[in-house]
Amino acid sequence: MSEILINLNNLKHNVSQISTKIGSVRKIIAVLKDNAYGHGLVLMAKELANLGVRYACVRSIDEANDIKEFFDDILVLSHIPNGNENIDFTYAINDLSALEIIKENSKIHFAIDTLMHRNGILQKDFELACKIAKKRNLKLLGAYTHFRSADEIGSDYFAQKMVYEKSKKSLKAVACKFGYENLVFHSHNSAATNRAEKIDDDFIRVGISLYGYNEFCDTLNLKPILSLWANRVSKRVLKKGCCVGYGAKFCAKEDINIATYDLGYADGLFRYNGNGELFIENGKKLLGKMSMDSFSCEDSGEKICIFKDVTKWANFFNTINYEILVKLSPRIKRKIVTE
Ligand SMILES: *Cc1c(COP(=O)(O)O)cnc(C)c1O
Repeated sequence: MSEILINLNNLKHNVSQISTKIGSVRKIIAVLKDNAYGHGLVLMAKELANLGVRYACVRSIDEANDIKEFFDDILVLSHIPNGNENIDFTYAINDLSALEIIKENSKIHFAIDTLMHRNGILQKDFELACKIAKKRNLKLLGAYTHFRSADEIGSDYFAQKMVYEKSKKSLKAVACKFGYENLVFHSHNSAATNRAEKIDDDFIRVGISLYGYNEFCDTLNLKPILSLWANRVSKRVLKKGCCVGYGAKFCAKEDINIATYDLGYADGLFRYNGNGELFIENGKKLLGKMSMDSFSCEDSGEKICIFKDVTKWANFFNTINYEILVKLSPRIKRKIVTE
């Protein structure tokens, strides 16, 4: 069976690099949404909690429920309020209307719209937002924003940072009038954390850097923690002139030993269509089109590593590391290893 191995030493290294930069592991909000970017939600929650992380954020209540035993609190980013919330968790308030619907007494963080205009409350609406929150007995504990260009060269990130700093000051003052004090703030994702010299917040929200990557720059010298492995289903000699797989896309110029391995696009891999050169970890090329449940390459033994670092695959498919990782099927077994 194919499997995913999670390297615990590399995870320790990444957590330690990040903690050193921001001063404490307690300031990390571990972003575990979408099956922990494909790494395995419960497994990652458990290991991060062991390493001292106390706070996580996820996409949905379902995800939060799966890992509640591991953290002091969990921020749910994309819950759509229905009045039936589990009040053990903290909910992101993505617009004003959410305040009217979410269950009374819920713990909330305001998302603040500083420039990305994807989610959040604008500075001009802070007064109104606090008023509704108060009226509905909501527990406003903090607020955050998200940078749209932290992973791009240029001044946009700095411009947004200034809007954020102003919003933060304003919200602190407004919230105080409604009896909401000691709000916590967070804004930096992985890319922002990497490039920042100083972070003036209570927490950071990091996903991809825990998993060992950074798209923009890597001042933290992170190490990828996930490797993907497949097992041989069968092997044969592909005779000179014979072709393997759908559409006869690869034909042997001489007799070669080929094997078929048990990973395909049903496992969340992008479908390789046989064009261009895509390699597994040992440098062997995929031969012919990828099938739903398998692909073929030169026989490399019973067990092969597809990748230890997804960057090459992401580049090949013209996408970002996140997308290769997050698509890995939850059905693939995940296991912790220490090497
Ligand atoms: C996904 C997400 C993050 C984490 O981003 P990384 O680039 O993986 O660090 C942080 N904040 C919000 C709101 C997110 O949706």
